Amino acid sequence: MIGLMMQQPLLVASLLTHAARHHADQEIVSRRVEGDIHRYRFVDLGVRSRRMANALAALGIQPGDRVATLAWNGYRHLELNFAVSGSGAVLHTINPRLHLDHIAYIVEHADDRAIFFDLTFLPIIEALQARLTTPRLFVAMCDASHMPAGNDSLLCYESLIDSHSSDFEWPLMDENTASSLCYTSGTTGNPKGVLYSHRSTVLHSYAGALPDTFNCSARDAILPVVPMFHVNAWGLPFIACMVGAKLVLPGPALDGKSLYELIEAEQVTMSAGVPTIWQGLLSHVSGQSRAFSSMKRTVIGGAPCPTAMAAQFQKVHEVDVLHAWGMTELSPLGTVCNLKPHQLALPEDARYAVQAKQGRAVFGIDMKIVDPNGKSLSWDGEAVGDLLVRGPWVASAYFGDASSQPLRDGWFPTGDMAKIDRDGFMQITDRSKDVIKSGGEWISSIDIENIACLHPGVASATCIGVRHPKWDERPLLLITRTSGSTLEKDELLAFLDGKLARWWKPDDVLFLDSFPLGATGKVLKAKLREQYGDHYGSSGAPKQA
Ligand code: AMP
Repeated sequence: MIGLMMQQPLLVASLLTHAARHHADQEIVSRRVEGDIHRYRFVDLGVRSRRMANALAALGIQPGDRVATLAWNGYRHLELNFAVSGSGAVLHTINPRLHLDHIAYIVEHADDRAIFFDLTFLPIIEALQARLTTPRLFVAMCDASHMPAGNDSLLCYESLIDSHSSDFEWPLMDENTASSLCYTSGTTGNPKGVLYSHRSTVLHSYAGALPDTFNCSARDAILPVVPMFHVNAWGLPFIACMVGAKLVLPGPALDGKSLYELIEAEQVTMSAGVPTIWQGLLSHVSGQSRAFSSMKRTVIGGAPCPTAMAAQFQKVHEVDVLHAWGMTELSPLGTVCNLKPHQLALPEDARYAVQAKQGRAVFGIDMKIVDPNGKSLSWDGEAVGDLLVRGPWVASAYFGDASSQPLRDGWFPTGDMAKIDRDGFMQITDRSKDVIKSGGEWISSIDIENIACLHPGVASATCIGVRHPKWDERPLLLITRTSGSTLEKDELLAFLDGKLARWWKPDDVLFLDSFPLGATGKVLKAKLREQYGDHYGSSGAPKQA
């Protein structure tokens, strides 16, 4: 027997319609590329998105066409989320930090009809214009007075808005229609396109807002520091519309000082970003305690959150940390580390040990760990295996790549190695390609990094496996020091004693000024392996610095 409920498709535009109707006066505050702070309300977002939808139709953008952006988090970028996806086209958010070859590849592969860009990225646009063979529309996201001189091929965003009416009905369509496209960072090989649907986006927003996920409400002021070009700012703009939260968009200013000023001025209650961003913010407020007058919690994901960082936020500033794991192919939400009641009563160290884990599956995500033969491993907190997931916002294939069949028996292999405990808390031990294999056994680089970061002289730590004549691979620890620190190898190795199994202890420690970072702010371990791969030479003895 079929249920007798309405069939209402889950569509991205309905998030905007809801926000504009029920939270019309809620603010959206943006730091603009032009340098100033811009503010307007959800009702204005609705009006301008509809004007832009009319403009897109006038430019000949058809349902299914790809429309790209090279843009920071700001109100115009937000408008495009609705104008493009809401009218049935596909918003393709390009990561401007990718190499130009990758950007050109992505634009050609996605066959973007138009590219909207913030003025910061004019040099990329001009380089692309010189390379791309098919004609495309280029729209500068500014008003007429800021239009770049000497390039007649560019359209002006504000002129398009001004010349079109807001009289536009968001079309009804199949909820499985594609809504947006995001390419994986492509640390090896060409980037791969993940094509989200209206349905997956709306379901992901429901799940993201839940109390044990990000716990978002109309009483929040949300600052997505994570860019929209990194998996739709982890869904936060959509979640803010769904719950009517104030949105604070940081534009290009992602340094500690600018973020801190924005957090305080706009009384931000919740934020989200990768650990490297939080390192900048924490060093800006170092020496102060309770530096944040309104911020209650922050999501840290995209890379492991070191315990030392969680402790600094929580103990020094009374800001809760939500450690989260996900990936482009998961829209991106997979797990979030929110404690269960019995864990709240644990001693402090034990609580931090839980928070070092990436957390419990959000409802909708089913996960398992398997051995190399595909056999499920037990959730005992010990067994480590390949992490597989499935769910309504997990990719089933890659865009424009019919030959790729990523699923294994209906499960998506994440490429991460993990263990899961009895409470269902998943902990990533390594990206499978970063795992260190010493004498046939695995060493978790993430565990070593986490412990090294507990030393006050360590700003950040990266551990890589380096070829070794006897053990195949041995760990090499790379460190950046905190400012003023004179930490040396022997002191750090002595600090690790007793905190790690003896054979996990790195054979050497090197001190660097900084680590190479990829397009989403993660340390490029492959590059470090390339550079230091022979550090233990043919004798197994570390090279002298
Ligand atoms: P991306 O698709 O660029 O967002 O990268 C996804 C990958 O980032 C995952 O497969 C993990 O390897 C890594 N990752 C994301 N969040 C975390 C986390 N909290 N801890 C450890 N690794 C993470």
